[in-house]
Amino acid sequence: MPVEENPACRSRRSFFQVSVAAAAAAAVGYQIVSEPMLAHAASLPLGSPYPKDAVLINANENPLGPCGIACDAVNNVASQGGRYSDWMTKDLISTFAIAEGLKPEYIRAFPGSSGPLHYSVLAFTSPTKSYITADPGYEAGMHAAKASGARVAKVPLTSTHTHDVKAMLAAGPDAGMFYICSPNNPTGTLTSHSDIEFMLANKPKDSILLVDEAYIHFSDNSSALDLVKADKDVIVLRTFSKIYGMAGLRCGFGIARPDLLEKMIAFSGWSAMPITAVAAATASLKDPRLVAERKHINSTIREATFQWLAKNNYSFVPSQSNCFMLDTKRPAKDVIAAMAAQNVFIGRPWPIWPTHVRITVGTQSEMDRFQEAFQRVMSGAAVSSVQPSNGSIHLDGLVIPTTHA
Ligand code: PLP
Repeated sequence: MPVEENPACRSRRSFFQVSVAAAAAAAVGYQIVSEPMLAHAASLPLGSPYPKDAVLINANENPLGPCGIACDAVNNVASQGGRYSDWMTKDLISTFAIAEGLKPEYIRAFPGSSGPLHYSVLAFTSPTKSYITADPGYEAGMHAAKASGARVAKVPLTSTHTHDVKAMLAAGPDAGMFYICSPNNPTGTLTSHSDIEFMLANKPKDSILLVDEAYIHFSDNSSALDLVKADKDVIVLRTFSKIYGMAGLRCGFGIARPDLLEKMIAFSGWSAMPITAVAAATASLKDPRLVAERKHINSTIREATFQWLAKNNYSFVPSQSNCFMLDTKRPAKDVIAAMAAQNVFIGRPWPIWPTHVRITVGTQSEMDRFQEAFQRVMSGAAVSSVQPSNGSIHLDGLVIPTTHA
């Protein structure tokens, strides 16, 4: 006869189990890897300031920054910064829950989405539970998977640059986690809701889908939040770093069934949110026009850039995001360095596509400067004088020593 387990003992035991796992992750040199770390390393040593008047289209940031009411909210709340004020986070979660038709207990706030991305990977991968991701894809989760000792399978995108869900399933009969980023970083291409449903229906039991929606507001793609509401094995990540322009303020969400969130949180612990970020995020969510206006600004500048590239016979991957991959027809690192020498900092290449570089969509005047510099570099009128830094690579907000790459 099964012995009835005391829930208090059970939760103490699971706490100790995850503590052991977290200690193991720390022992192998685990650190959170993020986009600015990766972006910066492509051209300058970490921590060095960019030159005056530099064009920064290298880290998928939003040049518009936080909207006006978000800035007002930051100013108004700054003087209360002596208090943790965790009730403000509750208000933020409730605002988001109402807007999305979610139950508040399905949402957890973090300073950005890099944290919940890493904690989810640590919670659901292990030496016997693999991490399956797309290539080229956002690399941060791979670094967490390495720390948890998981096998990492990188599955090339299809010829239309969508996640190859069938090949990903075939690569992960032992999967603990499938990572889908849609729109994808770096290509800005979409994976359809039906493909995500197919993956859910065919994945190994006990594995989880991590759907990263950092860039969803720039696209026409439908969200996977309905699958969270339906209590599926899905964690959705959202961030205020992209369309809301709050990368430096730091706010994001992990959204999932409470039992999945509990496993993730076992790796993050609890820590107060920066109240400036919480105030700005809450104010941004209450602006009914913000997302549509910024989506329109981004797509207008992106499409104008695509027209210019096509007119000048440059190839690129059409995107529905604030970034796209541009064919450099030569080692991308040489073009990155030559562009940096002209004070235009573009993104980075991915090993699977060494002659492509990721470009972030900036303001129109930034893209005009990008076009002038790119034309000079590609015509041979400008060459490199800046060498990429050694010793670390930078991934859109995070820096990792090359020994971990
Ligand atoms: N997910 C993706 C796909 C990203 O590109 C980034 C950053 O660029 C993040 C997550 C993490 O962003 P943050 O920690 O600023 O929310």
